[in-house]
Amino acid sequence: MKVVVIGCTHAGTFAIKQILAEHPDASVTVYEKNDNISFLSCGIALYLGKQIDDPQGLFYSSPKELKDLGAEVKMLHKVTDVDLDNKTVTVNNLDKEETITDSYDKLVVTTGSWPIIPPIKGIDNNKVYLCKNWNHAKELFDVAADAKRITVIGAGYIGAELAEAYSRTNHDVTLIDGADRVMPKYFNKEMTDIIEKDYTDHGVTLGLGELVQEISGDDVLTVKTNKHEYETDLVILCVGFRPNTELFKGKLDMLKNGALITNDYMQTSDPDVFGAGDSVAVHYNPTHINAYIPLATNAVRQGILVGKNIEKPTVKYMGTQSTSGLMLYERTAASTGLTIEAAKQQGMKNAREVRLTDNYRPEFMRTTTPVVMSLTYDADTRKILGGALMSLYDVSQSANTLSVMIQNGNTIDDLAMVDMLFQPQFDRPFNYLNELGQAAQAQEANK
Ligand SMILES: Cc1cc2nc3c(=O)[nH]c(=O)nc-3n(C[C@H](O)[C@H](O)[C@H](O)COP(=O)(O)OP(=O)(O)OC[C@H]3O[C@@H](n4cnc5c(N)ncnc54)[C@H](O)[C@@H]3O)c2cc1C
Repeated sequence: MKVVVIGCTHAGTFAIKQILAEHPDASVTVYEKNDNISFLSCGIALYLGKQIDDPQGLFYSSPKELKDLGAEVKMLHKVTDVDLDNKTVTVNNLDKEETITDSYDKLVVTTGSWPIIPPIKGIDNNKVYLCKNWNHAKELFDVAADAKRITVIGAGYIGAELAEAYSRTNHDVTLIDGADRVMPKYFNKEMTDIIEKDYTDHGVTLGLGELVQEISGDDVLTVKTNKHEYETDLVILCVGFRPNTELFKGKLDMLKNGALITNDYMQTSDPDVFGAGDSVAVHYNPTHINAYIPLATNAVRQGILVGKNIEKPTVKYMGTQSTSGLMLYERTAASTGLTIEAAKQQGMKNAREVRLTDNYRPEFMRTTTPVVMSLTYDADTRKILGGALMSLYDVSQSANTLSVMIQNGNTIDDLAMVDMLFQPQFDRPFNYLNELGQAAQAQEANK
């Protein structure tokens, strides 16, 4: 079996390792246009915020490791065309400026995503930076040293983390978003109010509910929105990602944004072409529809599934709840599944939200701290659709618990009573998650 893999960050690296583990005799060639593999972008904000010492730790594999496992690794090689009928790829060797053709029995598309660049006047200014890969991270680290004022456009997870990181390094940070709250896709207003106060307490200027209209200037830039003008030394664009799938336009089934549609076994509409990671759509369990949710969590799982299914359909993809978390100014914020707003937008008329704030452990302990929680559920089926937690205590694993419950189709009644450990160091006889389920039950009983 001759396998060609296009792209080698997370989905590609995991796919290659799994293919070679399952099929040691397979011939696997990977083409990667960059000069590095397996970079964890999630560490960029930690690196820029000087919270980690050695950014080399953000690479967990190398071309050498994949070669030692038996793969042919072609770095600085960009795939420029794919012929699905004849099962060939055209590849540019970026080092030598030469073009080659290779053939495959199975093709793995792990081409990932690229930042969306909105059509804003002046967006091509050379002081507007992107934040996606290792090259961007190095560039941002260098230019930030000479910059005092940094403007981040986009207050999703990545923009939120960058704004926090640069405020830690004494930059004057402005965070702009067209939405009127930070990270509205993940947290309700009660929670985003807390996050926004943390930002302003740390000197970050928030330009929320503001649409950027123009970026101008040479030495000093001016970012003009529909409400204000901000002077800045550089801009970082973080308004989202789009799948890198131009090679397959008109050739494979895709969502509107270009994300490849796969079946449960990661096969695209051509059964010999597999896809994984940011280049594909995910099955989103809370709504049971295909969605575009570019996360490393999905990429590594789908990469492994490609390896398990490359010869014949064997292991099904479980789908995702899009569980994610971050820490801003020592506060953990984690979420899974749908917020109430997202559920309503999806047309789920019976979706309800319950909110609860309680200390994570008893007050007789010398210290304790509140956990702010929300749970989204279907009032008819009582099934859990989503949840979010925020605290100075580390509540990240509780979002994982809710994720498992959504995956398993559990209800608010299950959450209210499910067995959870009790010890005053950690919680009360009912863990705060049990209490959240009980609050949902009480809300329904009072309806
Ligand atoms: C700043 C930042 C922070 C993040 N934080 C988190 C986090 O905390 N948790 C989380 O789960 N996710 C996080 N993510 C998302 C995560 O990084 C992505 O979901 C993940 O990188 C997807 O991996 P991938 O392998 O599918 O695609 P990509 O990482 O996009 O890699 C695709 C690879 O394909 C190569 N390629 C593309 N086209 C070609 C071609 N034609 N020929 C050859 N090579 C090609 C590219 O060079 C690239 O190396 C973060 C992302 C960013 C940018």
